[in-house]
Amino acid sequence: MREPAEPVRVRYAPSPTGPLHIGGARTALFNFLFARHYGGAFVVRIEDTDRRRNVPGAEAEQLAGLRWLGLAWDEGPDVGGPYGPYRSSERLALYRSAAEALVDAGAAYPCFCPEGEACAGGCRTLPPAEARARMAETPHAIRLRVPEAAEFVFHDLVRGPLRFRGDAVGDVVLLKRDGTPTYQFAVVVDDHHMRITHVLRGEEHLPNTPKQLAIYAAFGWAPPAFLHLPLILNAERKKMSKRDAAAETIARYRDLGALPEAVVNVLALLGWSPKGTEEVFTPDELVRRFSPSGIGKSPAVFDPGRLRWLNQAHLKRLSDGELARRLRPYAEAAGWLAPDEGEGSDGWARFVAAVRLVREELAFLGDVVPAAAFLYRPDEAVLDAAALSPAARAALFGPEGRRAVAAALQALQARDPAAPWTPEAAAALLAAVKAATGLGGRALFLPLRLAATGREHGPALPDVLAWLGPVRFRRRLERALALAAQMAYNGAERAGEGKPSRG
Ligand SMILES: [Zn+2]
Repeated sequence: MREPAEPVRVRYAPSPTGPLHIGGARTALFNFLFARHYGGAFVVRIEDTDRRRNVPGAEAEQLAGLRWLGLAWDEGPDVGGPYGPYRSSERLALYRSAAEALVDAGAAYPCFCPEGEACAGGCRTLPPAEARARMAETPHAIRLRVPEAAEFVFHDLVRGPLRFRGDAVGDVVLLKRDGTPTYQFAVVVDDHHMRITHVLRGEEHLPNTPKQLAIYAAFGWAPPAFLHLPLILNAERKKMSKRDAAAETIARYRDLGALPEAVVNVLALLGWSPKGTEEVFTPDELVRRFSPSGIGKSPAVFDPGRLRWLNQAHLKRLSDGELARRLRPYAEAAGWLAPDEGEGSDGWARFVAAVRLVREELAFLGDVVPAAAFLYRPDEAVLDAAALSPAARAALFGPEGRRAVAAALQALQARDPAAPWTPEAAAALLAAVKAATGLGGRALFLPLRLAATGREHGPALPDVLAWLGPVRFRRRLERALALAAQMAYNGAERAGEGKPSRG
């Protein structure tokens, strides 16, 4: 596409019939990127004329979803703008006068056929005076008079030239019997009056385009440029069922702990391919690199595994402090941080340090709860013998394990309590235990890790011990020794042979 000559104006026009799904969010994002890339305006308009389908609260929910994604709009129902109102239900007078003008010009006619039935054709040929007379007393729809021989051609920015014959379009209904506009009519009138220059929308709207072109032609208005985005398939490369699509809501990914920039990234790749092999883009990078020439015709596959991967990639890009800020709601819900603990508090500094320890384990924000629980759990609750694998139980409660734990406890008690407790100091203490016991490798570190964290794997042990501090480390070692004493360890028990007997 060449640089647009006029200022670009695009719109996202959802119907408030349900939550924001990935399909709608993808359309909104592509319009947003298009507007920002070309320095134009992004308009949000609510198509709510079909009152039976409107769901209370859906408009607010959809707008909240767009806001969470960071797709700020320049004009819309909540922020206003020079071409408002931005809800079609508030523009009914405009549609009626526009339809009236077409009837006056002979480009549209009243249809007196019962709603939902095909027009038998008699309405089309009624003499204008008779039609006018009946309009005053009989309920009627307004239909466009589409010349059968007409041809509607448009150049889709992705698909190239497309051609439709008038007889395939039919006499489109503009106004229904209740005086409300059809979707087709409202969209054309609104896009024209809002000076929309480019319409980017899903491929499922392709059959609407010739009908809308017929309406533009009847008014003598120049249509906007059209760009139809490819279908979205599910991970099995099948067309998404209604139920598939209904499950894939933006709120679901937000609640799972996806970062908005990762969701935006995954949505951008649904039909747009960047140049080069890079896949991880911030929203700003997307705005810079986005180009309609990168939009393809072939269907795009939505793979939740890709979202997981991209979310991890975006998490990695955040500083410890920024990541901790994003994780704060989870920390508060878990009771690790009080709502009044500000970013200057000790609690906050400890939380940032905890995030530094476990951040490698996070794919989604919510993963922080299981990942960091061992740090915040009370010292006497960290070790749950019943939850350990048989191998871990053997390593901790066997003679070598008990020896390692007892030696670590001894070394802790022997150290100068005034000496600073750093990862280096903790590592030196572990080295001293190694020298004193003659144990090394797994035989030394697994029982100590289990005692300190209750887990077999995790961050580097000296870093964990530094975070816990010598007092909590000591309590955890004491707790492990007490547990070992309670469990009359049966030397015959080996990995995989069931639960330990209790004495
Ligand atoms: Zn009729």
